[in-house]
Amino acid sequence: MSDDVMVLDGNAAAGALGSLFAFDATTAIVRCGNCHASGPLAELRFYGSPQAMVLRCKNCGEVNLRLLETESSINLDLRGAARIDISRAT
Ligand SMILES: [Zn+2]
Repeated sequence: MSDDVMVLDGNAAAGALGSLFAFDATTAIVRCGNCHASGPLAELRFYGSPQAMVLRCKNCGEVNLRLLETESSINLDLRGAARIDISRAT
């Protein structure tokens, strides 16, 4: 790694990530990692409860998102999504 590259810890990403996650998640466009269909998160198939959920692709049924919420943390697993696009509010 070059000496002229400034390396910071993850706190440096707080501003950008803060704005990224301050949005209505149901409007995010999710691209399925299996069949590559794209559509709003709101159109995925929801299984489970608000604290322990699985969202599946409406086209192929592949799991695109898993979320587990406990008293101490929220675990978000996006392995099944090839991509998530978030539009900026205008
Ligand atoms: Zn799919």
